[in-house]
Amino acid sequence: MGPRDVLIEIRYAGICHSDIHTVRGEWGKVPYPLTVGHEIVGEVTEVGAEVTRHSVGDRVGVGCMVNSCRECDNCKAGQEQYCLNGNVGTYAGTDRDGTVTQGGYSTHIVVDEDFVLRVPESIPYETAAPLLCAGITTYSPLAHWKAGPGRNVAVVGMGGLGHMAVKIAAAMGAEVTVLSQTLGKKDDGLAFGARHYHATSDPATFKDLANTFDLIINTVSAPIDMGAYLRLLRLDGTLVAVGAPPEPLPVQVFALFGARRSFAGSSIGGIAETQEMLGFCADHGIAPQVEVIPADEVNEAYDRVLKSDVRYRFVIDINTLR
Ligand SMILES: [Zn+2]
Ligand SMILES: [Zn+2]
Repeated sequence: MGPRDVLIEIRYAGICHSDIHTVRGEWGKVPYPLTVGHEIVGEVTEVGAEVTRHSVGDRVGVGCMVNSCRECDNCKAGQEQYCLNGNVGTYAGTDRDGTVTQGGYSTHIVVDEDFVLRVPESIPYETAAPLLCAGITTYSPLAHWKAGPGRNVAVVGMGGLGHMAVKIAAAMGAEVTVLSQTLGKKDDGLAFGARHYHATSDPATFKDLANTFDLIINTVSAPIDMGAYLRLLRLDGTLVAVGAPPEPLPVQVFALFGARRSFAGSSIGGIAETQEMLGFCADHGIAPQVEVIPADEVNEAYDRVLKSDVRYRFVIDINTLR
């Protein structure tokens, strides 16, 4: 504990696809031994002498980063996730003091107070956890590219990220369409607020929906046919990648020319925006749909995530570690 640190007794930790990529070494060298997990919620049990933003007993959360330089242009603009000197990831990062950061599949975590979020009372702990990554990862691009009334928004993929994107975009007032491999989760998608639901395995989908969307949020972390999806955008539409396939995606430039389309990426959100997202979800009664598991079922859960067999986010009950 440093003077600006907060000690958190963790209650729940969400399982993000990034945890699996990291654990299995798919995103490069891993500083083993490593504890992953960056959807963390719990209660403050101790604060350093200089801490002013949090108190013992507060309900708090920690997302994908635990520090940044705080001095660069992007940090000063409240976009710490795009820190020019590199933000410090919640796990597998090297903190300013040289230690390797360890994540939330753990009973406790110590985090600088500036990177600790307040969790509104109305959001239960177990559903608050996935908001810290899946929630902000989808909220930030939806807010930036102005999902709202009169805007047609498509969400590609109905997993942990996708189902949150549907709920948030619908709450923002946009007309939401889900593009999923099959119609297997159609009832859920419509219940989450989507107005339309189409199977991407059906070639007619790409013909019928050409030039339709202002914004497409692609949550799939596997390669897709970029040209086919870009052609679904109407004039000045944007396709935003938030899922991260390890291999490069070939982009057909002619698909961009066709309607002055854009291809963009977005990574989580700043701390202030993450706090704003938690307030938005509390105000609109939005929470992820979760499946709570004990810690000894994590390996099985990983396999099920990879088979898209989760509705819609696994959350580990950290009490099962105690
Ligand atoms: Zn994540
Ligand atoms: Zn910075």
